[in-house]
Amino acid sequence: MTFQQVYGYEPSVRYSAPGRVNLIGEHTDYNDGYVLPFAIDRRTTASIAPRADRVIRVASAFDEAGGIVSLSLDELSPEAMDGWSAYVFGIAWALREQGSDLTGKTGFDVFIESDVPVGAGLSSSAAIECGVALAFNDLWELGLDRKTLARVGQYSENHAVGAPTGIMDQSASLLGERDAVVFLDCRTLDTAVVDLALEANGLEVLVIDTRVEHAHATGGYAARRASCEKGARVLGVEALRDVSIEDLPRAQELLDDETFRRVRHIVTEDQRVLDTVRTLREHGPRAIGSLLVASHESMRDDFEISVPELDLAVATAMEHGAVGARMTGGGFGGAAIALVDREARDAVAAAVTSAFAAAGFREPNTFTVRAAQGARRD
Ligand code: ADP
Ligand code: MG
Repeated sequence: MTFQQVYGYEPSVRYSAPGRVNLIGEHTDYNDGYVLPFAIDRRTTASIAPRADRVIRVASAFDEAGGIVSLSLDELSPEAMDGWSAYVFGIAWALREQGSDLTGKTGFDVFIESDVPVGAGLSSSAAIECGVALAFNDLWELGLDRKTLARVGQYSENHAVGAPTGIMDQSASLLGERDAVVFLDCRTLDTAVVDLALEANGLEVLVIDTRVEHAHATGGYAARRASCEKGARVLGVEALRDVSIEDLPRAQELLDDETFRRVRHIVTEDQRVLDTVRTLREHGPRAIGSLLVASHESMRDDFEISVPELDLAVATAMEHGAVGARMTGGGFGGAAIALVDREARDAVAAAVTSAFAAAGFREPNTFTVRAAQGARRD
């Protein structure tokens, strides 16, 4: 399916935005902490033509029947949208809710195509939101900057789609640059682009999608958030971001064992993000391997969000010469990443695949990603 096949004429502009991988900093976002994602070379493209009336129509290559969903700018509300089209309509609604005046604006025909795998933890959702947000901002001449558009994307995902996510995905998708990571302070929303320099160092990031979708993902996420809030309350801080490594002995005295281990993951993970940024700047990507592995161990043992498939992926990658490896994303399934020498990539992928077969696990999906430029007009 193409724009032409669905609507019967050619689009006038194309915008695209990438998915993302989080290099390090897991579950730190809702604790006001630090994350370090990068935009990947897998993108969602929105082909668009302006309309004369106030209707937005959307179609997706996902829908082989070529179905079109329409909504008028005068009818925008979360109740008026459902399914995947909410990722597009929700942006128009969120722009208005966040203060843009859409009076007198006209609508669009929109066609979405994507090579970001859906549900693999690579944020196909942010890829749609950010491409569409950049497009609408340009075409409606709203004059919003990229950080504001990231907030619009998050607002839409939280309130129009109904998923309680942080701002990491949208920040990576909008602010990413080639061969670089986006250092994001989730409290101040300050960002800095930090050189990853994988190309110059002959390194690649191998994604190992376990294809495990854990039944506990939603409940587990809520329970971890609750533990973090409890920890912060007992320790008398606004968020766990305000707890440092030196505070941990006191935290251990005040907290029950489980809550303490949840807190220790967040506090040490924040420090690992800061250490990774400093290490990348001072010594380059080959030096961050032990931080990635320590992050995985903390998620496995303290935060308890790993699964045997993710542990096996990380262990096998390390045994076969990876520089570092860790699960990435919310946990209870999803993907691991391994930082590998370009020459070792195929051997690591093959080793993981056969280790999965030997363990009786489902065959994983392995592929490499590069850190790529964020949302743009193509
Ligand atoms: P993730 O962001 O990890 O891939 P999410 O559940 O957050 O997973 O978002 C996936 C949802 O985004 C899909 O179920 C679908 O509704 C929507 N989506 C993503 N890509 C597309 C696309 N190309 N066309 C239509 N909908 C899409
Ligand atoms: Mg998502």
